[in-house]
Amino acid sequence: MVTNTRRAERHTGEPDVVELNPVFARPGEATALPKFRFPEDESLQETAYQIVHDEAMLDGNARLNLATFVGTWMDEHAARLYLEAADKNMIDKDEYPQTAAVETRCWTMLADLWHAPDPEHTIGTSTIGSSEACMLGGLALKRRWQHARRAAGKPTDRPNLVLSSAVQVCWEKFCNYFEVEARYVPISEDHKVLDGHDLETYVDENTIGVVAIMGVTYTGMYEPVAEIAAALDRIQESTGLDVPIHVDGASGAMIAPFLQPDLEWDFRVPRVASINTSGHKYGLVYPGLGWVVWRDTESLPEDLVFRVSYLGGDMPTFALNFSRPGAQVLLQYYLFLRLGRTGYEAVQRTSRDVALYLSGEIAKMPAFELWNDGSDIPVFAWRLREGHTKNWDLYHLSERLRTKGWLVPAYPMPDDLTDLTVQRVVVRNGFSHDLASAFLADLRDEVALLDALTGPMPTEGQRSNFHH
Ligand SMILES: *Cc1c(COP(=O)(O)O)cnc(C)c1O
Repeated sequence: MVTNTRRAERHTGEPDVVELNPVFARPGEATALPKFRFPEDESLQETAYQIVHDEAMLDGNARLNLATFVGTWMDEHAARLYLEAADKNMIDKDEYPQTAAVETRCWTMLADLWHAPDPEHTIGTSTIGSSEACMLGGLALKRRWQHARRAAGKPTDRPNLVLSSAVQVCWEKFCNYFEVEARYVPISEDHKVLDGHDLETYVDENTIGVVAIMGVTYTGMYEPVAEIAAALDRIQESTGLDVPIHVDGASGAMIAPFLQPDLEWDFRVPRVASINTSGHKYGLVYPGLGWVVWRDTESLPEDLVFRVSYLGGDMPTFALNFSRPGAQVLLQYYLFLRLGRTGYEAVQRTSRDVALYLSGEIAKMPAFELWNDGSDIPVFAWRLREGHTKNWDLYHLSERLRTKGWLVPAYPMPDDLTDLTVQRVVVRNGFSHDLASAFLADLRDEVALLDALTGPMPTEGQRSNFHH
């Protein structure tokens, strides 16, 4: 996510009213509405609509946003379904039993896609996004560990979770909110992702689990789940500790099944207890939709499950939210039916082709060195080649690209590589070869412009405002 704090903050001299454009103000209406207080009176629908419409227009152009993973386009039939289903509340299973049934179909399909040994015997849920899904996955790990510790008469006051320093911020939140010590394994030039090396120095009897990321947010690289599992197998042999894995497949869990079907990262790896994905990333649905699925019902402790009334009976639910939109679940089902395996494969392959084309062209530019090439998920990052210039850096380039409308964030890598700045492109459905070559042309122009500088660009006030 890119936040433009300049715009989000209230700046000095900002008027505290929204003035109406006289072209659409109606006779007798107020000509200005307060910005930060409740208006005293009503406005006409048209007027209120026009104001909100005009405000929203100031947001960026999603087409040129190469920073986000989140879906910003769906077809006309999806748009129709969305409108028809805008009122559905996911928690109200009694009122919307069919939406509830569709939700179950969707996560059962995902369980099957991710090779659950017995998809009928799994449990899963939709969520508002991967963040909530990760919280639920983490909570299940924590509770399972607590049960096992209590059964063994051991203390449960110091749980820890082992994860890469390149995890998405939702895991920091999980550890903070649910009081679990985060044990970060730093990434390095030699170990660009969490790959199981040295894992025995992080894992102990208080470890509730290890997070493996399919599609690290910083770079798009996969973490080798099978290798991490093998390291945990060795730890179990020597210590007896049986540590489960949660796979954060926010993006990759909707890529790997189609583009790398032979890669074993999912429930084929026996240690994988749960997997999450974002329906609104490579699931291709509008925000906000996530999914989490457990290997089997035993992986989700029963005492975390609540029962809601459903057709006179009850239905198990496990979620942080109560009310939330149901429409996205229907949109996901629509896409599953519409695309099927071959459709998803075609869509994801196209994105990967574009990513490989772009990374190949960027690799040829003398200013840059690729960190990875986008062959895992269609996301890749590059850095400035050592010694290329002292006059500009990737933050400057990011700013220059912004003047052409492109949003391509530059940011520091996490521990232990915080001195390294990279720039990243996320290729999503809709970012065509055509747009990619337009982007490359602008990139080359801006690099040429920066390279022509005879002195350094100012760096004062320069900072990364990018959040993963
Ligand atoms: C995006 C992302 C998340 C958070 O997902 P949301 O759906 O935005 O809540 C978590 N983990 C990874 C690896 C991600 O890329």
